Amino acid sequence: MNTRREFLHKATLSSLAVSLPFSDSLAAFNSVQEDKVLRVAIMGLGSYGTRVAEAMKDCKRAKLVGVVSGTPSKIAAWQEKYGIPSKNCYNYENFDQIKDNPDIDAVYVITPNSLHKPYSIRVAKAGKHVICEKPMALNAEEAKEMVEVCKAAGVHLLVGYRMHFEAKTLEIVQRQRAGEFGKTLFFQGLSGFIIGDPSQWRLNKELAGGGAMMDIGIYSINGARYMLGEEPIWVTAQEVKTDPVKFKEGVDETITFQMGFPSGAVASCLSTYSLNNLDKFFLNGTKGFAEMQPSTGYGPIKAWTNKGPVDAEHITHQTTQMDEMAAILLDGKKSIIPVDGEEGWKDMVIVDAIYKAVKTGEKVKLG
Ligand code: NAD
Repeated sequence: MNTRREFLHKATLSSLAVSLPFSDSLAAFNSVQEDKVLRVAIMGLGSYGTRVAEAMKDCKRAKLVGVVSGTPSKIAAWQEKYGIPSKNCYNYENFDQIKDNPDIDAVYVITPNSLHKPYSIRVAKAGKHVICEKPMALNAEEAKEMVEVCKAAGVHLLVGYRMHFEAKTLEIVQRQRAGEFGKTLFFQGLSGFIIGDPSQWRLNKELAGGGAMMDIGIYSINGARYMLGEEPIWVTAQEVKTDPVKFKEGVDETITFQMGFPSGAVASCLSTYSLNNLDKFFLNGTKGFAEMQPSTGYGPIKAWTNKGPVDAEHITHQTTQMDEMAAILLDGKKSIIPVDGEEGWKDMVIVDAIYKAVKTGEKVKLG
């Protein structure tokens, strides 16, 4: 607790103590405590939703208080595990009623990609803040619509970019901004893993909106932008498909892509569902370099520069993310690397450009 907050907290308590009987002041005290915590409902109780829920157990500013799921047995299991009251449990048909629930501040949408837009919009229209997983939408147009709807509804829209709060990432970003590496003219981003089960939604165009690019390639796009601290002005891209049965029309297996930046920097990136051991960022400048491997996995992230290793404590990414998002939503804190809808939209503009470059074989201009 910081000093100002401590003061306000004590002041509130002492004013409660003089004016209310003990049981009432205790209840009011609890609600004062509660007000400082972001009360979150998770929508989509799958593998990542579970990871976020587990990480939130260690949060100081965010608390899992509700769920949205189409599977009653999962709801019951989560209620039991996380002490979620029935009044905070919804399904995909009735979750608009969350608007009448004063005990939920934000809904974290962790469903397959194509559902991000429609569900985020419904959450916004129910008057709750939206935290949406990456990729925030299927394309830039959808992302823009989400930003506009949230703005009109007077709620925040944040994208689940957990790396934007990761300590080693932030250390390198700050050193880059301070000029430690000189003029940074080259970034390499390698993002990939071998995908298993061919029947999963990640390989279904309708639900995923694409293939590896939507799922994992987006880390290299996003990483290039925060590591270089610039927005690309052009994109070129090439697609390779070795298994057209597993990776059907519209589901990309492997794409290499390049981005050019106003400073003259270039990024060279790989996105694939057909190779493991690809989780690496390399940033090179006129005075030094930074390398991260793993760079975006669940960690611990390993990072070093030409001066030696970058040390920082490993904290479960989603724990830090949710505490920091609580500070953004409750206190108006500004993150060093943005995590708002606009930030997600910028990545989607590049995703669109990459798919266009693959199709046309041309250099696609941005901005
Ligand atoms: P998952 O398949 O494990 O979970 C998806 C959940 O959505 C399931 O509980 C499923 O029941 C539910 N769902 C609701 N409607 C559905 C429908 N019509 N079809 C299929 N499932 C439906 O997937 P996941 O790995 O948890 O991924 C969910 C989202 O989280 C994706 O957008 C993914 O990109 C994102 N994700 C982010 C990170 C990260 O590090 N930020 C990591 C993994 C996944």
